[in-house]
Formats: sequence, structure tokens, C-alpha cells
Amino acid sequence: MPRGVAPRQPARTGRQDRVKGARVPGTSAKTAKSVARPPKPRQAIPKPSARPAKSKGYDPVAPKRVVEILKRLDQMYPDVTCALTHSSAWELLVATILSAQSTDVNVNRVTPELFRKYPTVEAFAALAPEQLEPDVRSTGFFRNKSKSVVGAAKKIVSDFGGQVPDDMEKLLTLPGVARKTANVVLGTWFKKGVGVVVDTHVHRISRRLELTKEDEPQKIEQDLMKVIPQEKWILFSHQIIWHGRKLCYARKPKCADCPLENICHAADKTWSTVEIHKNAKA
Ligand code: SF4
Repeated sequence: MPRGVAPRQPARTGRQDRVKGARVPGTSAKTAKSVARPPKPRQAIPKPSARPAKSKGYDPVAPKRVVEILKRLDQMYPDVTCALTHSSAWELLVATILSAQSTDVNVNRVTPELFRKYPTVEAFAALAPEQLEPDVRSTGFFRNKSKSVVGAAKKIVSDFGGQVPDDMEKLLTLPGVARKTANVVLGTWFKKGVGVVVDTHVHRISRRLELTKEDEPQKIEQDLMKVIPQEKWILFSHQIIWHGRKLCYARKPKCADCPLENICHAADKTWSTVEIHKNAKA
């Protein structure tokens, strides 16, 4: 034998005896296959039978469950607030109108220059909507948004002395302002929790967490106002919006990383240790 060349030793597992597809004498083809290819280890997801099932009287809006959801949200998102850059109620109102069908990041790219160019509500009120269009074009739906912003500015100047009203009914008289926008301004700027902001994240996640079965923002808000304590309305909205951005995506939510996972029975979970609730949808 040449120096430095060691003879190959048979593997301890005996794999050299198991030629792929070869049948071991006295075994069936099925057995032989299972001998040749050891089964892969299973995923660490418990079998359905081992998963904790919902008890008979399961109530998704039971106070105990809601308190647990709120507690975990507090731990996950203790100090969150609105991500739209603003320094006044007017700027927040404009940013919120512009954020419809857009992202906060996109809006935050536009607003610093916008507020530098038109520093007061009066400056916006003096515009024709067409003049504003090029400045807000990148946020999408720019014609409607320009009309809403200029219309709101004119009304605030003519009816409210140039001050954004801190009242839901009055805010709802402004062009382009519905409950979602009014709730953002009242909650974030005026610190008045008179409703729950229902944007696309709150819509989706409230349904996944079975806090509502409704599909219309106004009805979802009503349901949330019944089960969430009023002092939590503002923070809850912000927390859920952040949860939607960080983990609970519309597509492929990151359930394996979600601290709410073992109390969430959403039908479109990507990973689950609990029974899926067929009625809970995104
Ligand atoms: S477990 Fe999944 S679906 Fe449920 S809240 Fe968390 S990320 Fe969303």
C-alpha cells in the first residue's frame, strides 16, 4: 500500500450495504425503501390533536382574552405613536389626508417641502386645487387629495377662525375628512380618545384577532369601542398599526415571531400552535 493512503473503513451505519433501491432479502419493496431512506425529522409543530383546542364556551371578546391581548401589545409596543411627521394639528390633518392609499414613509417624503412652501392653513386656503397637485402627486390620488386639502383649508379659515377644530362633528364637516382622519387628529394631536382609528392594519388585525367579524370600518370601530376600554383607544390603534407593519402583514404574517400567536386563531396564520378558528379571517 502506498504511504499515506489509509484503507476505507465500512461506515458504522452500514450504509455501504444499502444500495439505493436495493431490496434487503426477506423484506418488501416498501420496507426496503424505508430502510434506504430514513424519514426526515418532522417539523416542530404539534399535531392537530395535541394542539390546545378552544373550549366549548370560547368567546373571542371575553374580557380576560381582550385584557391579555392589550397586555401583550403593551409589552411589544410600549411607546408608539403616529408615524406621520407633523408639528401642528393642521399639518397632521394634511398628512393624514395624503396618507390614504399611500404609506407614511411616502407621505413623510412629501410633507416637509409642502409645509415649507405653504407654511399656514391660510396659504393652503389661497390655492386652487390644481396648484397643489404637483406637490402631492407622488402620494397617489393627487387630484382628490388636492381638492380635499384645499377644501379643508378654506373651510377651517372661513368657519373655524383658522384653527383645526378639536371636535368630531366639526371635523367631519371638512372635505375629505371621515372618522379615520378625525380620530387620528383628535387622538394624536388633541389627545382625545373619542373613537378608534380603523385603517387597513386595524381592519385586518382586529378580524384576525376576532375582535370583530365586520368588514366596514365604521362597524369595526363600533365593535372595538365595545370591547377596548376607552382610555386605550388611542394607544390600541397605534399599537395595532405598528403590529401590522412589523409582523402581522397582510400576506404571510410572521406568526412564528408573534407574541400573540398562542391566543390568535386567524384562518390565514402561517404557523400555529393552536387550533385555527375558521371564522377569523384577514
Ligand atoms: S399570530 Fe399571526 S395572524 Fe395572529 S396576530 Fe400574530 S402575526 Fe397576526
